[in-house]
Amino acid sequence: MFGFLKQVGDYTREAVDAARNLTQGLSVTFDHMKRRPVTVQYPYEKLIPSERYRGRIHYEFDKCIACEVCVRVCPINLPVVDWVMNKETKKKELRNYSIDFGVCIFCGNCVEYCPTNCLSMTEEYELAAFDRHSLNYDNVALGRLPTSVTTDPSVQPLRELVYLPAGEVHPHGVSPDRPRAGKLPEQILEELKAAGSIKTAEDDGRESSSSASNEEESAG
Ligand code: SF4
Ligand code: SF4
Repeated sequence: MFGFLKQVGDYTREAVDAARNLTQGLSVTFDHMKRRPVTVQYPYEKLIPSERYRGRIHYEFDKCIACEVCVRVCPINLPVVDWVMNKETKKKELRNYSIDFGVCIFCGNCVEYCPTNCLSMTEEYELAAFDRHSLNYDNVALGRLPTSVTTDPSVQPLRELVYLPAGEVHPHGVSPDRPRAGKLPEQILEELKAAGSIKTAEDDGRESSSSASNEEESAG
């Protein structure tokens, strides 16, 4: 008898779980049924990449000190830093620098750890090529800045969902003056500064000068 009741209980629990999972799945479907389709007529129209998009790396040859930190922090030791030691000046002389974007995983470690900030991530994502070896960029190719979607005259930039005003899901025909739903990182920073949650460089300067004057007073 107890075995039969346990079986009925298990069956009921599984049926309730199945119904809940089904409802969750269908809720996503019904939510999308209310939305209009978004078609981007690429390459004439392009979505604006997000602020922290990790695209092709930009490199500044003149700022590089050939320290090879980028190689050591890269998960696959990818950047090739070609340098020679000048015996007279006892300094490294940089000859060439290259990154193979056919292998790079765009993790951004090299950019994060470079001590002279000569590496940066751009919003360039169009890296398709017929030959993967052509994706091995030397310092000249790495030094080129890409044309951004918003400044390219041949492209109609479309705002991504994060850039759209609240309640708007279709980027076509949205006036550029309408504010987006989310806040920009600099707007959040300004709000935090106004609320006193974070210190600014000016605050630090004021604090250090006041502590210096206190020290002077106590010494006097
Ligand atoms: S970490 Fe920066 S400075 Fe050092 S070799 Fe790499 S790119 Fe050059
Ligand atoms: S982005 Fe990552 S994988 Fe690519 S070169 Fe830099 S550290 Fe290496």
